[in-house]
Amino acid sequence: MRIELITIGDELLLGFTLDTNAAHLARELAAVGVEITRRTTVGDVGPAIAAAVGEALERAGAVVTTGGLGPTSDDLTRPAIAALFARELRFDANVYERIEERWRARGLPGHPPAANRHQALVPDGAVVLPNAEGTAPGLWLEDERGRWVAMLPGVPREMRAMARDVLLPRLRVLSGAAATVVRSRTLRTTGIAESALVERLGQLAAGVGDLPLAFLPGADGVDLRLTARALPPERADEALEGGVEQLRARVGRYAYGEDGADLAAVVLDACRRRRVRIAVGESCTGGMLGARITAIPGSSAVFLGGVIAYDNAIKEALLEVPRDELEAAGAVSEPVAAAMARGSRARTGAEIGVGITGIAGPDGETPGKPVGTVWTAVAGPAGQIVTRRATFVGDRQEVRYRATQHALDMIRRALPEW
Ligand code: AMP
Ligand code: MG
Repeated sequence: MRIELITIGDELLLGFTLDTNAAHLARELAAVGVEITRRTTVGDVGPAIAAAVGEALERAGAVVTTGGLGPTSDDLTRPAIAALFARELRFDANVYERIEERWRARGLPGHPPAANRHQALVPDGAVVLPNAEGTAPGLWLEDERGRWVAMLPGVPREMRAMARDVLLPRLRVLSGAAATVVRSRTLRTTGIAESALVERLGQLAAGVGDLPLAFLPGADGVDLRLTARALPPERADEALEGGVEQLRARVGRYAYGEDGADLAAVVLDACRRRRVRIAVGESCTGGMLGARITAIPGSSAVFLGGVIAYDNAIKEALLEVPRDELEAAGAVSEPVAAAMARGSRARTGAEIGVGITGIAGPDGETPGKPVGTVWTAVAGPAGQIVTRRATFVGDRQEVRYRATQHALDMIRRALPEW
């Protein structure tokens, strides 16, 4: 089954809102074997909406739109598409009753404003798609030739719920049981450059069997995404399972998880199993490592706390970094990172202490220490210490984020040896 997607809204054309609806729908539809053959964005202009939908219907015969179903005067999807299908708009008392119910449920006084009555206008012959998350119902309109348009709301939360609960089940029925799917699995790697991965992977870099492989570098590392297309669901899963195993074997310890895995969660898990706790001493990352760890539910079993030791006086006073080392080697140095790791461990009683000190930029570089230079140290349960110097690329935020990822990876790699 092939469909076209039309996202509607001036804010999308102007670039003030990122078109996340299109990306979300593309992924969700592919997962049930529906291919999006074209994506179009138009503004809140009736004739533009009608033209885009009309052309898409000519090509594909099946169209999904998002946006423009709200109560305001710039919400023109409903009248534009009703006119295209030559259908009258009629006030639907059931739809309006739902809008009133929502109004009351929110504890608002009186009746919904008149503008909400627009949302209860339904084209003749349309199927109303319930909106569990908002007032604007979706609409499904079909012509005598069986061509159809599904209109979904623009608000991403509402659109997602409607896609999941109403649209996808309908499309599953329409596309039939023999449907094939597009499915992907991602192996997440960190601490290795894209080019070095290509070398490690050898011939697998070009794909595993029939499954194409995508290299997706980002601040977390390089994600390797395998995609199975045009296969029945079970065959796709089997092929991906085997493919990911082959990738894992080549990538080795650089792989830390799959799909949405967060390295902070991976590290927390490993620490929980080994019954070790973490404390941090952070300079250039300013608490970002602690923030990433505490963003994971259940982190309190592992994470004790830390010190944002930005100023040297704080490194000295709260993390026991010796002043002569700060003076001799400078704040961004191996001995200072090591002292911060030891200090955060000693001060908290944690088994593992982390020290991070670096130059996030854009200024602050000194001879031999360019922007992006970060020293990281991890102190272990028996006082072992691992230190690393790294030079991260990117702007200030990226350098700081990459430093947290690197520190987490150092913990992950050190744990099995301790
Ligand atoms: P609308 O129903 O068109 O009035 O859209 C309501 C809100 O949903 C807009 O203000 C946007 O913030 C958001 N929105 C609309 N379309 C999209 C889209 N394609 N992707 C992400 N957000 C959207
Ligand atoms: Mg809009």
